[in-house]
Amino acid sequence: MSRKILLVDDDKNIHLAIKTIIQKKRNNFIEMARNLFDESSDQMSEILVDHVDSAFQGEEGLELVKNAIEQGDPYTIIFLDMRMPPGWDGTRTAAEIRKVDSDVMLVFLTAYSDKNPEEIYAEVGSVEKIFYLKKPFDPSEIETIVTSLTYSYEQERKLRLLAMTDGLTGLNNRRHFMSLLEQELRKSKRYKRTLSILLTDIDHFKQFNDSYGHQLGDDVLRQVSQSSIQSLRESDINGRYGGEEFIFILPETDLQQAAIVAEKLRKNIEQLEIPWKKSMLSVSVSIGVSQFQPDKEDTMEQLIGRADRALYHAKDSGRNQVCASDS
Ligand SMILES: [Mg+2]
Repeated sequence: MSRKILLVDDDKNIHLAIKTIIQKKRNNFIEMARNLFDESSDQMSEILVDHVDSAFQGEEGLELVKNAIEQGDPYTIIFLDMRMPPGWDGTRTAAEIRKVDSDVMLVFLTAYSDKNPEEIYAEVGSVEKIFYLKKPFDPSEIETIVTSLTYSYEQERKLRLLAMTDGLTGLNNRRHFMSLLEQELRKSKRYKRTLSILLTDIDHFKQFNDSYGHQLGDDVLRQVSQSSIQSLRESDINGRYGGEEFIFILPETDLQQAAIVAEKLRKNIEQLEIPWKKSMLSVSVSIGVSQFQPDKEDTMEQLIGRADRALYHAKDSGRNQVCASDS
């Protein structure tokens, strides 16, 4: 995750001034950090800005924000000029940006004669994460605001991440997974591209907890989820669906291809060795696979329902197997 700033101002001198200040701050900071701690340490990376982008009109700024979001690398701070004729003014730009990015810190660069904060809040539709800097500004004001907002953004990002993650396995938790699945299905419908899901359940999981204790049970959950991630591709999306149930989205993958991935996953898990005292335990999973039909009246509930029935079938036919089904 990089720390990027976007400047939206029709005056190119403002771009030059702010970029110079940030670059100088970066150099000073690197110099200071060299004396204090390891250059690769977290403390450094958390407050250093990696990149500053420029837009000279609000519309252009919004496009950059949309692209950054789509690439999963959003902006941390956006500086907005108030008046940028002939295009949108700062508040209109902020309102449009807020619709696509609810986390970014917005800093208005205003002159005394511009709108007051109440008007701005009303137009943007929120008071959160909106800040002001009076023009003409002092370099130290830019430095301070960049450092403190980058730090707050980073703290918030960590909290958001924590709220989306399952504590035991590190996978996406169910709530977050479901929102990712909704997003993927919307994309799938829009671009008429299919996707498949895998619903995975650990066979006889209760026995691990009952015979060896909950700590061993937790170990099994961790190892199975790690092995699953390693069997999948970079673009696949993971989630902990329930107690010992995991779920995966395979974008742009049809049922047959998904069944091959599922079979690889099943085999890798079958080969896992879970240490228990002086012996090794083995574990297996059953997997149900289903494919989304973007050109039919298919829904998320139906997609999961089909995977669930396929999983049931895999269990019913003796476990430790993959069942791919379209019905
Ligand atoms: Mg201007």
